[in-house]
Amino acid sequence: MESQSETEHFLRLAIALAKQARAQGNEPFGAVLVYDGIAVHQATDRTLDLCDPLMHAEIACISEYCRASHQIALENYTLYTSCEPCEMCAGAIRSAKISRVVFSVSQAMFDQLRSGSPNCGGTRLLVESGSPVEVIGPLLPEEGLAVFQDYVFESKQARYHRRMAAGGHQDAPAGPENPDR
Ligand SMILES: [Zn+2]
Repeated sequence: MESQSETEHFLRLAIALAKQARAQGNEPFGAVLVYDGIAVHQATDRTLDLCDPLMHAEIACISEYCRASHQIALENYTLYTSCEPCEMCAGAIRSAKISRVVFSVSQAMFDQLRSGSPNCGGTRLLVESGSPVEVIGPLLPEEGLAVFQDYVFESKQARYHRRMAAGGHQDAPAGPENPDR
């Protein structure tokens, strides 16, 4: 298990990845996979790059690492995420047998930032299902929330089409608000 200073270091790395994802025109989320005090893989959300609504940072991080390292079960690994994992990612974390999840911004905090229907938050599913995954967070929430400063929430569909129309990866001006995650 990582020390307090290591935990904050890896969480800040996940937050930095979220900023990078936003700058690249993806959804602003990042994740880092840590084993034995070493960051073995990191990923940003790539939903808009790949036109793949499943390519959340957590899923990208787990899938890319497992395929590259030929690991099929990630016991004793910790996944650091800039935001509390959603229901889909919680299922992936469980399937990959990850031991620990550390997140910055909670789903409840995230829901307060945007209008629209609240999500239940994936870590609640992990805890209530009796999963052995240890869940820690919110940690450093002010730093995680700073990623969303002046961020316009809109549907993935709207963001994707605007991005395609702009012909690039830039975070083009927003269209009508239609929050969706
Ligand atoms: Zn997710």
